[in-house]
Amino acid sequence: MLLNTAEIGDTETYKGQPYRCVDIVDHQRSDGSLTKLKIWETACATCQVVFRFGAPLASDRIWPSRRCDEHKRPGRAV
Ligand SMILES: [Zn+2]
Repeated sequence: MLLNTAEIGDTETYKGQPYRCVDIVDHQRSDGSLTKLKIWETACATCQVVFRFGAPLASDRIWPSRRCDEHKRPGRAV
């Protein structure tokens, strides 16, 4: 779990994996309302490829992805 107090440029560590807060962007929800997403960057725990994911700025805690899209589903054929 990451605390959502990081600002752009800050790095937080979750389970030994560093996550860097790289951006805060506007995001349109499916109902059309606007919110903000905090963008985190980390290296996939499986293949080390660097990927980004967004988390709602309004949440105080984030459960981050540890793996890229290709590796986040265990058992999926590659
Ligand atoms: Zn991966």
